[in-house]
Amino acid sequence: MPTVSEIIGQELFNRENLVTLLRAEGAEGMFLLQKAAEMKLQTVGNKVYFRGLIELSNVCEKDCLYCGIRKSNDKVLRYNLNDLEVLKAAQFAFRERYGSIVIQSGEVTNDHFAERIERLLVHIRNMSDNKLGITLSLGEQSEEVYNRWYDAGAHRYLLRIESSNPELYRKLHPEDGKHTFQKRLTALNHLKKIGYQTGTGVMIGTPFQALDDLAGDLLFFRDFDIDMVGMGPFIEHNDTPFNTPAGDALPLSVRFYLTLKMVAILRLMMPDINIAATTALQAIDPLGREKAVKAGANIIMPNITPGSYRNNYLLYNNKPCTDEEPEQCTGCLDARIALTDSEIGYGEWGDSRHFARKKKN
Ligand code: SAM
Ligand code: SF4
Repeated sequence: MPTVSEIIGQELFNRENLVTLLRAEGAEGMFLLQKAAEMKLQTVGNKVYFRGLIELSNVCEKDCLYCGIRKSNDKVLRYNLNDLEVLKAAQFAFRERYGSIVIQSGEVTNDHFAERIERLLVHIRNMSDNKLGITLSLGEQSEEVYNRWYDAGAHRYLLRIESSNPELYRKLHPEDGKHTFQKRLTALNHLKKIGYQTGTGVMIGTPFQALDDLAGDLLFFRDFDIDMVGMGPFIEHNDTPFNTPAGDALPLSVRFYLTLKMVAILRLMMPDINIAATTALQAIDPLGREKAVKAGANIIMPNITPGSYRNNYLLYNNKPCTDEEPEQCTGCLDARIALTDSEIGYGEWGDSRHFARKKKN
């Protein structure tokens, strides 16, 4: 069995060895994080890019068993930002030189929604003179709708595979024919074919998940040749079927450390992709995102949703910064990023270098 150092040095990233890396603790765990930090500096550099996150609406047609805003949760006060609120948030990001925004929402699949997003994209492009990068994270849509949004100016799309193991995917979702692994995969293939910078990811520490599943997820990211990844710890939400940790659930601190190791390993496996330091990390450790940046992440998604709505976009318990207005986040983020010895790529898109390299070849 090769050691952690041999696996990294010789790039022996097969399934079994990835499990060994995920098990690394103490000095070996530190070594892994250190090697990923070095790789990041050599490849994508020390810049962190912002994606101002606009949580457009918590209305959702889906019922993912893990998610606090799932359709069946009738305790949620549903909201939908109006167009002016969305444009104001985008303007804020532009003025603060965030470089890019992400528009995220529960999954809604009707013509009205598709048209609304199209219209908003055109407005945002005009308002920013095409200078604001736009990522969408609006769930599974038809190929036609993805095409329309691409033509209207979105150029990146985030759709997590949630688990690359179809069996586990099935256990995390209702079996109603709407939540199928195959549909998720088809949607990801459409995004890639259309020309989006395609991002995916998984939650770490979900019920029924084994280290072997996470190793499989890492191989899936590589084999699918993904451009961006957002991975975060799974955190229970009280009003979901997964509301209390199952008997064999990993403690939050272990999910946290595993997420850092997932980020680090992926940076070593796919050196030039964009990797997000996700907000869920911050729900467990106040310096969670900063620790992920140190372990290889290079993207942060500051929440720029108007403060009054944030309390209703609760995917999991203890979501951070729900009481703040966007203006309060900027100074806080500057100080936080300084802690990681990184520089903020103000006013830059910070596109995936991996994507650019693929396009050239
Ligand atoms: N509805 C879109 C979708 O599912 O792609 C975008 C919004 S959805 C809330 C964004 C991500 O939140 C999901 O991909 C999922 O991985 C994550 N998420 C949902 N519930 C979570 C939980 N309890 N803990 C951690 N992450 C969660
Ligand atoms: Fe809806 Fe996305 Fe939550 Fe699933 S993860 S219930 S699609 S918001």
